[in-house]
Amino acid sequence: MRTPIACLLAVFILLAVPGCSGRRHANVLVILKTKSYHTDRCPRVRMANTRLMTITEARALNCEPCPGCAPGSAD
Ligand SMILES: [Zn+2]
Repeated sequence: MRTPIACLLAVFILLAVPGCSGRRHANVLVILKTKSYHTDRCPRVRMANTRLMTITEARALNCEPCPGCAPGSAD
C-alpha cells in the first residue's frame, strides 16, 4: 500500500506552483513599435503587431504600461 500523504503532497505542489507563478508573471501583449504593453482586452493591440510575454520581460525591454488598460496594476 502507498502512503496517502505522499500523494496529497504531490497534488499540493502541482496546484501551488502554477497558481503562484501565474499571478506574478501575468502575460501581456507588447507593441514593440510604441514600447508599451497591454492586456489582451485592450483595443489598442487589435491592429498592432504584438508579442506575448510576461510583464517582467516587457519591463526588461523598457516598455511602459498602457494608461488605458493598465496591465499589472494589481501588483
Ligand atoms: Zn492598452
